Amino acid sequence: MSGADLSGTVPSAVRAAWDSAAARWPVGEGMPQPRWVTRGLPDGPAQAWDALADIIAARAESGPISIYVHLPFCETRCPFCDCHATVAPRTSRDTVDRFLKTLAREVVRWASLPGIGTRRVTTVHFGGGTPLAIGADAFEGVASAIRDAFRTHAGTEWALESTSRLLDEEHLDVLAHLDFTRIHVGVQTLDPAARRTLGRREPPRQVIERIEACLERGWIVSADLLYGLPGQTAEALRSDIAHLTAAGVHGVSLYHLNAGPHNRRFMERSGLGVRDEARLAADFALLVGGASLLESLGYRRNHLTHFALPQDGNLYARHALRGEDLLALGSSADGVFGDYFYRHIEVDRYAGAPRSKPAGAGHPPLAGGGRFTAAEVRARPLVTQLVAAEVRPDTLHERSRAYAAALAEVGLLRPADAGPAGPSGVTWTLTDAGSWFAGAIAAELWDLYRPEA
Ligand code: SF4
Repeated sequence: MSGADLSGTVPSAVRAAWDSAAARWPVGEGMPQPRWVTRGLPDGPAQAWDALADIIAARAESGPISIYVHLPFCETRCPFCDCHATVAPRTSRDTVDRFLKTLAREVVRWASLPGIGTRRVTTVHFGGGTPLAIGADAFEGVASAIRDAFRTHAGTEWALESTSRLLDEEHLDVLAHLDFTRIHVGVQTLDPAARRTLGRREPPRQVIERIEACLERGWIVSADLLYGLPGQTAEALRSDIAHLTAAGVHGVSLYHLNAGPHNRRFMERSGLGVRDEARLAADFALLVGGASLLESLGYRRNHLTHFALPQDGNLYARHALRGEDLLALGSSADGVFGDYFYRHIEVDRYAGAPRSKPAGAGHPPLAGGGRFTAAEVRARPLVTQLVAAEVRPDTLHERSRAYAAALAEVGLLRPADAGPAGPSGVTWTLTDAGSWFAGAIAAELWDLYRPEA
């Protein structure tokens, strides 16, 4: 049992699903983790690079790819943030410049691999950090280098994650000039007091105005909101959702404020440092309230955390569901080609990566890589589908199909009321409890196949 009474806060069916899951897994497990977190990176950087070169050559005809670019710099470090982000004040411009040189070399190196240039690019997604914090000219340089190096085309989506503070008219002009079409805004909350706690100085009215300015340019716009903030009420979260949806956003991500290595002090200061099941259950009730409001307004989950109108395809987050390889660039970025995953080194080392090598020489600054085992290859489709909140039993290995049916039985999946149905006629989506426990579900699913490994 969860140690918390959800009666009166969530519908009984939701409560039953939560209780069933909470009896099985710890309630605060978080998001599904990449495989390297559990079993490390078996191959070192050079070995990973050789393996990737072979795989990419063999997969030259394997359809489109997605690209993710990690630019880990921010104007200031928000105390609640658990991202791989670092502050880029003027004094560390040298670090930013060295990072960008490494990135430029990395782009050239990947583009030189036989088999990559034939593949059309679905989306180029910039995350971080706040990518525009490197400055408009530098940002334009990175985007242009990627456009020149890979097979982008008129239908390629160019997408950016940003705080609203950096979305001024000058930056919007730069983004328009570069053909950006999707902006994901880190709003977190519109409540003035909560914004002060989070270190966000921009007034809520200005946040909405900047979102409206992006919408006026005809772009797809989505926003992050946090739930589980100190003292946050259900009404406050619903009010934030109401403001954003009234402004016309196409998508809203609901993120749980979780403790991690980068925000421990903030969590402790806010009284959230100790694991408390009653509080976690109350946070779950916030999610249920927010999700039900979004669904009543026509938004549908198309990712664990993301609710979208049909226009917002959330292309980067759903690349694996489309069977696309992911070319990841930049520090600490994770990519995958076929059955091979890889990861980059962290920002400090990335910015200090050897400067003597000419562009195109050596391998990119990888931490290493590894191949999915045969067992993981079987488990992976359901993990991918859970992350995309779109489970198609007819496409799954028999064992995953039975496992998904068991998840549906206890209320962690439910039939989707929109989206493509497979030949079996059923496409399931995650329930709120399913999304909350997705990390534990994914871990169990990998283990389910492990005896085969
Ligand atoms: S919340 Fe966003 S802007 Fe703040 S430190 Fe994290 S990545 Fe940077």
